[in-house]
Amino acid sequence: MKEFLYRLRWKIQKFMQGRNGVDELNRILLYAVLVLYVSSIILQSLILDYLAFAGILYLLYRTLSKNLYVRREENRKFVTWLETTRIKMEQRKDYKIFKCKGCGRNIRVPRGKGKIEVTCPMCGKKTIHRT
Ligand SMILES: [Zn+2]
Repeated sequence: MKEFLYRLRWKIQKFMQGRNGVDELNRILLYAVLVLYVSSIILQSLILDYLAFAGILYLLYRTLSKNLYVRREENRKFVTWLETTRIKMEQRKDYKIFKCKGCGRNIRVPRGKGKIEVTCPMCGKKTIHRT
């Protein structure tokens, strides 16, 4: 039995060589699929069931993919987005973030300063905001 498990492990390792495997995006995707699947059971929704199945297929595709450059680029973008979102959520307590009406850039100002005039550092457009 121990020999069989050892051989199986070796075969799986050999099969996974040169493949993407499990990365951060796959890990989050797995949790999303589990939540979707449990939700589909609780709500008895066929649409959620199909979404969970599509998620599993995409998860398998990403895990077994040999196109490492593209998969790592996807993962890098996802991790960057996750980190940016986390930082934004942390800053929400102390700062208010506006989108400039001139150029679309995000402008961060401290909260609790009342009504202030904000000048965009990129395009110089001045707008009045409540903080
Ligand atoms: Zn601007």
